[in-house]
Amino acid sequence: MTLPAEDTPALLLRRGKERSLQRRHPWLYASGVERVLGRPESGQTVRLLSSEGDFLAWAAFSPTSQIRARAWSFRETERIDAGWIAERVAQAVARRAPLAARSNALRLVFGEADLLPGLIVDRYADQLVLQFTAAGVERWREAIVDALVAATGCRDVYERSDAASREREGLAPREGVLRGQAPAAPVPVVEDGVRYGVDVLRGHKTGFYIDQRDNRAQVAAAAAGRSVLNCFCYTGGFTLAALRGGAREAVSIDSSADALAHARAQQQANGLTAPCEWREANVFDALKQLQAEGRRFDLIVLDPPKFAPSVKHVEKAARAYKEINLKALRLLTTGGLLFTFSCSGAISVDMFQKVVAGAVFDAGVDAQMLGRLQAGEDHPMLMTHPEGEYLKGLKVLRL
Ligand code: SAH
Repeated sequence: MTLPAEDTPALLLRRGKERSLQRRHPWLYASGVERVLGRPESGQTVRLLSSEGDFLAWAAFSPTSQIRARAWSFRETERIDAGWIAERVAQAVARRAPLAARSNALRLVFGEADLLPGLIVDRYADQLVLQFTAAGVERWREAIVDALVAATGCRDVYERSDAASREREGLAPREGVLRGQAPAAPVPVVEDGVRYGVDVLRGHKTGFYIDQRDNRAQVAAAAAGRSVLNCFCYTGGFTLAALRGGAREAVSIDSSADALAHARAQQQANGLTAPCEWREANVFDALKQLQAEGRRFDLIVLDPPKFAPSVKHVEKAARAYKEINLKALRLLTTGGLLFTFSCSGAISVDMFQKVVAGAVFDAGVDAQMLGRLQAGEDHPMLMTHPEGEYLKGLKVLRL
């Protein structure tokens, strides 16, 4: 394990660029750096200093990223070492303990929100899956894995670091076993009484949309006796929850044949026998097709991939969100429920609500918003880092 040097290098900030750090926002952009003092290596702990030379934070240095440093701590008396890392890991794990009664698929560490910028840790039963997406946590990887094994008792640890974010940090892509055995294919988990199989090796993210737990529960609670349409169903999360909740029938659409095959197998594994159609199609076309077939549904889920990967894509994404919401509203029965989501960080809650309101207007219907939806408590947002909020949804009732 490499330990940061005793004699800590520092980044001196440009005048006027201190404000966000003073407000405990954990990122320092390259444009805010006046001068690098010393020769910090990638991921090494540096002092962030105001233009006057006052201490602002301890941070991890990312020499190639636009986010040039990520704050570990705003307290000068703290020392960033393996013990400190272990404590943060243990606290993050302990905070999730209440959720264990509902599920053994949990996000144990969510980066900035858990004060460990760039680190994602998901737990599927006794399998841990890690993503190191910043130079700081990369440098402490051994200490992090040790701490996780100690805090969870899990022996099998797999790395599935997100390649794109590693590239921005100047880190080579990495995947593979870090400790113990390779993950089962798939890893069986149970959430709110439903069994899901998680493909840790090839699935999206670390294999499963853990963040939708509460929303799956809401869909299950509303599903009894209803006909359900689940768009962008992936491995069937919302469909299985709805069937478990007593849905009368379900149509699930995804463009991935593999995801659909996986979903179908999970339906069988759960012994859920209500009529189910798994359609391999582009949702935009399938919604038109269902309209042409004269189909109607009492509950529709729209949980598409991220349409806006960055601020540049917002306008186009808003049009796409509007289109699917409009088409879905037309397929919804009176008294029907729409659970509609956006996981685009660049689309705000307000903007999403406006887009859906526009779709309601264009559909020529009346609708109530029954509630806002968000990621579960194991995906918290650091209050001083609003960028961490990404998943937003609305529960809409067609009148
Ligand atoms: N709702 C899912 C997660 C969705 S991930 C869950 O709760 O688990 C996005 C999914 O959309 C992926 O499975 C991808 O294959 C699918 N997809 C992306 N674009 C699509 C399109 N135009 N039509 C149909 N499926 C699409």
